[in-house]
Amino acid sequence: MITGKTQNLGVIGWPIAHSLSPVIQNAAIKEAGVDYNYTALPVAPENLAAAVAGLKALNYRGWNVTIPHKAAIMPLLDEVDKAAEIIGAVNTVVNDDGRLTGYNTDYLGFMGALNSRKIELAGKTAVLLGAGGAARAVIWGLLQAGTAEVVLAVRNPAKAQPLAEEFSPYGKVTVCHWTEDLCAEQLKKCSLLVNTTPLGMTPKVEACPPVDWSTVNPAAFVYDIIYTPAETRFLREAREHGHAVVNGEEMLAGQGAEALKLWTGIQPDLGCMQKALRQALA
Ligand code: NAP
Repeated sequence: MITGKTQNLGVIGWPIAHSLSPVIQNAAIKEAGVDYNYTALPVAPENLAAAVAGLKALNYRGWNVTIPHKAAIMPLLDEVDKAAEIIGAVNTVVNDDGRLTGYNTDYLGFMGALNSRKIELAGKTAVLLGAGGAARAVIWGLLQAGTAEVVLAVRNPAKAQPLAEEFSPYGKVTVCHWTEDLCAEQLKKCSLLVNTTPLGMTPKVEACPPVDWSTVNPAAFVYDIIYTPAETRFLREAREHGHAVVNGEEMLAGQGAEALKLWTGIQPDLGCMQKALRQALA
């Protein structure tokens, strides 16, 4: 029950009505029996600074940040955690008595699905298809896990090159065109193949990154960070070629669980969050 003592949490974005965060967060809050309430808060870009000041004045314990505010919010905070700074995006803000700290939990959500399956990446090669906003968190997570080389396989290598250079102080990040021979060589040796493009996402479910499965290491684990549909064409093809696979549900629930942990100190029930997510998507 919401009372005068209930602490407020939320998610800011524009638009925000589509957000699944209220569903997964309130499911975990209920399961844990803690006194918090989480709501979706529509914030237009021109109102971001006023919204941050308002949330602070209203003593919100914290909030998630989604498109289009993930980078724009950074200068409005008192502190930004190192990972969020390097990734260049804040998805979680914690309000400690008026001091606002920004974090990025997307990379933890991404890595959680690999860690729970005991996918060992230290010294290995990972190939990412696409090099956009979500790829930044993925690259950071993989480099933190000791991945020897992260290969960005893209349609436009010149566009992805600056991203590879930006992350090069933290590990080896290279770029190739995804239909070139060089890319086939990387696919042959990779332990992990990740789709970070929107290709195959609802409603364009027949779209798929151009992967020649005969060139992919048969032992590679295949990950699609898309979660609608639950099985993209990319994941279906990977599964049909004998690869172990995972979709983006656990990443989405996982970033939420890490955020809730930062606000409340509890270890949320990830399974309960995933179940709520799946029900909402169904
Ligand atoms: P983004 O910033 O727009 O980046 C998309 C990347 O895919 C870019 O490298 C882009 O290449 C490439 N791409 C886009 N359309 C393409 C096409 N038609 N053909 C070839 N390449 C194409 O998007 P994002 O924010 O990174 O999100 C990507 C996907 O991840 C979305 O489906 C999103 O829903 C999903 N996601 C999931 C989670 C989760 O928690 N599971 C979290 C974040 C995002 P160019 O630069 O050449 O355009």
